[in-house]
Amino acid sequence: MKAAVFDTFQGKITIRNIADPIPKPDGVVVKVKATGLCRSDWHGWMGHDPDIRLPHVPGHELAGTIEALGRDIKNFKIGDRVTVPFVSGCGSCGECKSGNQQVCDHQSQPGFTHHGSFAEYVALDYADTNLVKLPENIDDVTAATLGCRFITAFRAIVAQGKVREGQHVTIHGCGGVGLSAIMIANAFGAQVTAIDISEAALSLAKQLGATSIINASNNTNVVDAVKTITNGGAHVSMDALGSSETCFNSISGLRKRGKHIQVGLMTGDHRHPNVPMDRILADELEIIGSHGMQAHKYPEMLKMIVEGKLHPEKLIERTIGLGEGSRALPNMNNFKNKGILVINSF
Ligand SMILES: [Zn+2]
Ligand SMILES: [Zn+2]
Repeated sequence: MKAAVFDTFQGKITIRNIADPIPKPDGVVVKVKATGLCRSDWHGWMGHDPDIRLPHVPGHELAGTIEALGRDIKNFKIGDRVTVPFVSGCGSCGECKSGNQQVCDHQSQPGFTHHGSFAEYVALDYADTNLVKLPENIDDVTAATLGCRFITAFRAIVAQGKVREGQHVTIHGCGGVGLSAIMIANAFGAQVTAIDISEAALSLAKQLGATSIINASNNTNVVDAVKTITNGGAHVSMDALGSSETCFNSISGLRKRGKHIQVGLMTGDHRHPNVPMDRILADELEIIGSHGMQAHKYPEMLKMIVEGKLHPEKLIERTIGLGEGSRALPNMNNFKNKGILVINSF
């Protein structure tokens, strides 16, 4: 099959033929119809993920049809149109048994623990536990945007943040996950303040439901600006970028008993940032992580998409080919894209 491969971290990504994947007994092989480009792929290419073994094929947000079945698969058949959360839970550890496959002890992650979906075919493990059948009226390109950023934003806003109508929600960073969170928080009736350093990203944030915007590149005190806009602080605030500064600002811009949700990956020097622990204690703030979403929680989100309450297709900037995708991946950190790029030709 054709795949985008890198042989060294931060090295050239080439399109070449490699062996077709074979399903494990509890896995499937999916013919990839569409796959999104995510900043986590960039982290993988940079060498930030210890799971990756070289040479490697990136890609973890995908939709496609089942091409081959492992011998133990009970719930799916060849030809089923499916997607999958980027964390596939094993189904048998304590976390999976408690329904929290998103923090499984033995995670399988295409594009990290094994070859991913920047290819004609991808192997998916623990398939009965993690595959999600797609409704007919959600197309492949839209479905490919769900498996990482959109589900992460959905779980963060709905399950972790418990955002309610009329609350103030602040989103620091308007890349794919931040924009998704803005759309979802808006759909649940929140007043959303979007913060970024790019005017283009902020204008897209407004189109997707942000009621206020703050450009952090020309605002010397983001926290004061947030507190003014939100009448004293946000009920729920998300660091959707993943940096020491956005994390600190997100926590500092909360009102009493507010919730900070960390969604942006913290890597390198940002792994252990300063947090205003004095305020966390005095104001009873909550610090919450959010890591993807379990397959069994997809139906509520899919229903809202089918009913037209959520529009993940609006997050898509454009579709591209595998070659352009492999050239775009190393530049995922320069924040020039306004919206999600999806590969849909191989
Ligand atoms: Zn597990
Ligand atoms: Zn991702």
